[in-house]
Amino acid sequence: MTDEAFVQGIVAAVGGVTGGNAPLHVPDLAGNEWAYVKECLDTGWVSTAGAYVGRFEAMLAEYTGARNAIAVVNGTAALHACLMAVGVGPGDEVICPAATFVATANAITYQGAVPHFVDVREVDLGLDVGRLDTHLADIGERRGGVLTNRLTGRRIAAVVPMHSFGHPVDLDALVEVCARHGVTLVEDAAESLGSFYRGKHTGRFGAVAALSFNGNKVVTTGGGGAVLTDDDALAARLRHLTTTAKQPHRWEFIHDCIGYNYRMPNVNAAIGCGQMELLPRYVAEKRVVAQRYLDAFATLPGVRAVAEPSGCQSNYWLNVIVLDRSRAYLRDAVLAATNDAGLMTRPLWRPMHLLPMFGDCPRMELGVTEDLYARLINLPSSPALGRRD
Ligand SMILES: *Cc1c(COP(=O)(O)O)cnc(C)c1O
Repeated sequence: MTDEAFVQGIVAAVGGVTGGNAPLHVPDLAGNEWAYVKECLDTGWVSTAGAYVGRFEAMLAEYTGARNAIAVVNGTAALHACLMAVGVGPGDEVICPAATFVATANAITYQGAVPHFVDVREVDLGLDVGRLDTHLADIGERRGGVLTNRLTGRRIAAVVPMHSFGHPVDLDALVEVCARHGVTLVEDAAESLGSFYRGKHTGRFGAVAALSFNGNKVVTTGGGGAVLTDDDALAARLRHLTTTAKQPHRWEFIHDCIGYNYRMPNVNAAIGCGQMELLPRYVAEKRVVAQRYLDAFATLPGVRAVAEPSGCQSNYWLNVIVLDRSRAYLRDAVLAATNDAGLMTRPLWRPMHLLPMFGDCPRMELGVTEDLYARLINLPSSPALGRRD
């Protein structure tokens, strides 16, 4: 097959699923969002003190099975709050995949900690737990009971896996490795609302987890995020830290530590309540879209569509194709041809260790991440595409 035929085959396959122009992921706001926001405006309850905030948190807890959900202003703030809550601090190291959105690594630095990048697996695009285990055995040593990177002398305080594009990482294995090495598990579940690992919702396997409700996520609140935790004491601490650490009092302003103004406003939570009512439908529709891509790409040589890992149910937040290595040099040609045809496609985020501010961070060998960066393409994945016949 010529290069041109290969590229045009991909354009045709994507266009066949979308039926024409398609953005990467647009929100669907056809439920009760309008009515709920109108109520906020009519009653004047627009700020974080409104009742939709608690209602949205209850809906998140119910859907995920988490004991507590704490709604905050965005997913990055949720990650930052998670790291604060589990005691990550200056001089610590926190492990995260190099193949992630920049927010994961940024949030680590907000606590004065240093990101330490690990590689991912090609099969599920998530943190490679087997290699993490070996890596920790290689570089880690116990100093006074604390897992320490013997190369840098810093405590390894937490591991932050990310469920890439909605595909759960190997959580059973990861929970075991974190427990054995004595390191806290914090999930970046920003992309995986609606994704389950062996029947249990992602974000329920570590001490805390972060969700995002940015405009392009499965559920949006305009901007927003949430922390999930089963630990009531951590939940109370998270509520305190994200509301300026203010002690309850009838009139005094007493703040007992440096806090953050991170709580979600009622207007955003009102949108979130409308969205959560429709989440099961969005996930079902997105799974229809994913199956169509899987079918379309099954017959196309030189490229594969990524399917959910076995034992998992993925939300297929963004569908993914990976070009064969022999066709990797055509990545930009595919990106150009699809975008020219009105089909919005994107490459993998530039890996964290290749960004200027993270170039000097500690890391393992990142061959799979770099290889995927050269070959991975995200496809249009809005739930509305699943409503086409
Ligand atoms: C979307 C996202 C976040 C959070 O992003 P916000 O825009 O701050 O809500 C964090 N991590 C990952 C992997 C994400 O995709």
